[in-house]
Amino acid sequence: MSQTVLSIKNLAASVDGNQILKGVNLEIKAGEVHAIMGRNGSGKSTLSKVITGHPDYEITDGEIIYQGQDLSALEPHERALAGIFLAFQYPLEIPGVSNLDFLRIAYNAKRKHLDLEELDTFDFEDLIQEKLDVVKMNPAFLERSLNEGFSGGEKKRNEILQMAILEPTLSILDEIDSGLDIDALRIVSEGVNFLKNPDNATLVITHYQRLLNYIVPDHIHVMYDGKIVMSGGKELALELEEKGYDFLDEKALAAV
Ligand code: ADP
Ligand code: MG
Ligand code: MG
Repeated sequence: MSQTVLSIKNLAASVDGNQILKGVNLEIKAGEVHAIMGRNGSGKSTLSKVITGHPDYEITDGEIIYQGQDLSALEPHERALAGIFLAFQYPLEIPGVSNLDFLRIAYNAKRKHLDLEELDTFDFEDLIQEKLDVVKMNPAFLERSLNEGFSGGEKKRNEILQMAILEPTLSILDEIDSGLDIDALRIVSEGVNFLKNPDNATLVITHYQRLLNYIVPDHIHVMYDGKIVMSGGKELALELEEKGYDFLDEKALAAV
């Protein structure tokens, strides 16, 4: 039986005193890809921020267990070192820090955490060459400032490059499809699929069915007003595409 990577129980969370998550339950096992769908404002990004420990968000009830450990005991950087990776919807631009340096520092922080020797620039460049192929990225991008002037598609590919180098146990991809043309979408998705293995897990957040033609999830969950209100297999994406999210309002009304 495969191991549980993430177990979220009755999770409630608020930001600036606003209750956004209202009892989320979710269990993700090693080797699985889960997708969370739901309309804008339903709480998807909030969930990803709470999992990664964003300081603005307060857990008001429930718990998040990652590899058997209660995450509330870990600072955001400790969660990252423990193998939780969040690809940003809007990746940050950091002028003056080269992409290569950024990646090497992040990679070496992880090596150090694992009591492994840090890689020098030359060894790291060897490692990165093979990773570039995963996202079909031109090596010239390594010399540029992190994400500065990168197109939307290039930024997302760069997020997947980070993922390829850090080899996270849990990857959370929040709307990596936003702003991508069809070619970039395919490259990013192929990268994600390539990185999938029996020991890691992926949580894909999107409100479009289209992405899930490329990254095929084992389970799909629908978020509505801070809760997961429906779960199913990959066919659920097609059902949602057909019905839109409005039918959830009718369901919610019927439940009152
Ligand atoms: P999604 O990712 O599903 O589009 P979000 O998690 O970003 O949704 O947002 C969920 C809800 O939380 C929205 O109604 C949003 O306005 C609200 N929200 C997010 N951040 C804040 C904040 N800092 N202060 C108040 N409300 C917020
Ligand atoms: Mg949104
Ligand atoms: Mg969002």
